[in-house]
Amino acid sequence: MTLVLPDEVRERLDELAGSMPPEAFAELGRRLKAQVAARRRAAAEAQFTTDSPGKLAVMLGQQQKPHLEKLDRLLVRARTEPVRAIVAEPPRHGKTERLLRVGTTWRLDHDPDCRVMMISGTKSLVEQASRWVRDELERPEAAYRVQPRRDVRAVDDWQVQGHGGGIFVGSLGSMIIGRGADLLLVDDLLGSVADAESKTMRDKAFTFLTSSFGRLEPGASVIIVNSRWHPDDPIGRLLKEQPGVWEYHAVPAIAEEHGHDPAEPDKCLCGDPWLGQHADPVGRASGEALWPERFDLDNLAEKRLLVGAYVFAAQYQQRPRKREGGLWKEDWISDRRAPALTVEQVLTLLRPRVVAVDPSASDEDTGDEAGIIAGGRNPATGDAHVTHDLSGTYTPEGWARTALVAAVELAADVVYERNLTPAFMRRAFNTAWEGLQAEATQAKGLELGYTVEPAIGTGRVELPALRPALHPVSAKVGKELRAGPVAQRYEQRRVVHNGVFPLLEDQQLTWKADDGDSPDRLDAAVHLIAFLGDGGSDVAVVESSGATVPTGAATAATSRGR
Ligand SMILES: [Zn+2]
Repeated sequence: MTLVLPDEVRERLDELAGSMPPEAFAELGRRLKAQVAARRRAAAEAQFTTDSPGKLAVMLGQQQKPHLEKLDRLLVRARTEPVRAIVAEPPRHGKTERLLRVGTTWRLDHDPDCRVMMISGTKSLVEQASRWVRDELERPEAAYRVQPRRDVRAVDDWQVQGHGGGIFVGSLGSMIIGRGADLLLVDDLLGSVADAESKTMRDKAFTFLTSSFGRLEPGASVIIVNSRWHPDDPIGRLLKEQPGVWEYHAVPAIAEEHGHDPAEPDKCLCGDPWLGQHADPVGRASGEALWPERFDLDNLAEKRLLVGAYVFAAQYQQRPRKREGGLWKEDWISDRRAPALTVEQVLTLLRPRVVAVDPSASDEDTGDEAGIIAGGRNPATGDAHVTHDLSGTYTPEGWARTALVAAVELAADVVYERNLTPAFMRRAFNTAWEGLQAEATQAKGLELGYTVEPAIGTGRVELPALRPALHPVSAKVGKELRAGPVAQRYEQRRVVHNGVFPLLEDQQLTWKADDGDSPDRLDAAVHLIAFLGDGGSDVAVVESSGATVPTGAATAATSRGR
């Protein structure tokens, strides 16, 4: 780790580099570095009355922020009392840097006998942090009081020279070294939506966490940082199973509104129970971003669109909610969730394959959202599989093109809802196909073969002579909506989601039949699964719960209690 110069200093140095003798230039560089270090030290002295990780962070050129100061305070307290703290903060807001890296460096510099245990769901996260601390303590120009031992260099387990302290790390699925810990730091036990939506993974993470508590020495402290993912994530479960043990700091990316809710007298406007006036945990006015220099309100609004309201509420606002009230139930999806499939795996495993489209509602160039969901049937089990969600904001030609290319890649048919005039739909698909042919002809001139850009995979896609088959369908069968029977197939555990589709699943779990118009992704998924159910198959489709199911896998799924 070397001293990082501010951009403006580095730019000035670059300008001077050519115009000075090398020795004089090197001397200037040394002087500037010393000046920058002195300025940072002075800033840290002025800003911090007490010694803390934040002070060290500022000396290293990092920013101090109120939510990081929360971690500082906990780290300072952990030197003198057994802290049990959970801090929920949005992703990429500096918690790993402050807690595992700077915080641990600071602690070992003060207490060289402190045995720090770091655990995470991801091995590289704790190993990189451990290496960072070791390198930082060894940095020649930094004046730390301690040095790492030179003979024991393992990044997952090293000690301070002449003392008993050091760092050892553990990650989900790996053995933890059988040693006692004085400070346990837990960072990102769950790291993906797929893990968070799987009860098996949540169980694993929770067991791993509580088993690590077995390493705690008397008087040891525990600090857990993670974004929230799910009401039943390790943080949620810890708060529920060990009430009164943990202090919990939930820091939302955008400050919430607080005050007495006139509609519900026992509630605060933020949704917490009313226990008297309370305020933003880091003292912001409502609506303010947590780290606007890094993620301002526009960035956060864009994030919300990208990840969907459900994921945003959990990870960014630390308010994971149970998704319920919709036609679908969470277990119906999570019980049958399976790993994502590549294009090649889809081609091998599923037949028939379908790309279902719920087109944008207008034929203007306004860019409404179109639902495009791909999948197919597993002929061995009769189960329907949802494999790709390509929905998004498209022009008419855009969604038609995406659906057609995806159908070419998956050797699939296209099913589309005829909610617009037949002439409009024909025109959209015809225009898109002509556009693709022109694109492929041009590519041939560029010696790329008769190919177009992919919609799903990574390589270019060879365009066949014939357009994929198109099947128009209606949202209703007679007067009945198609959604009902499709939801029933989920309830029978006959539908597999290969991967996690947060926005689709959000619509499934919150939309009710009497809400009126169903949302686009849900509609496309309904057309996909209804079509697979209607179409010919190798296995009889079970539509009522009393019937027998012919294969082992499907039987196991349907006989599970519900
Ligand atoms: Zn409140």
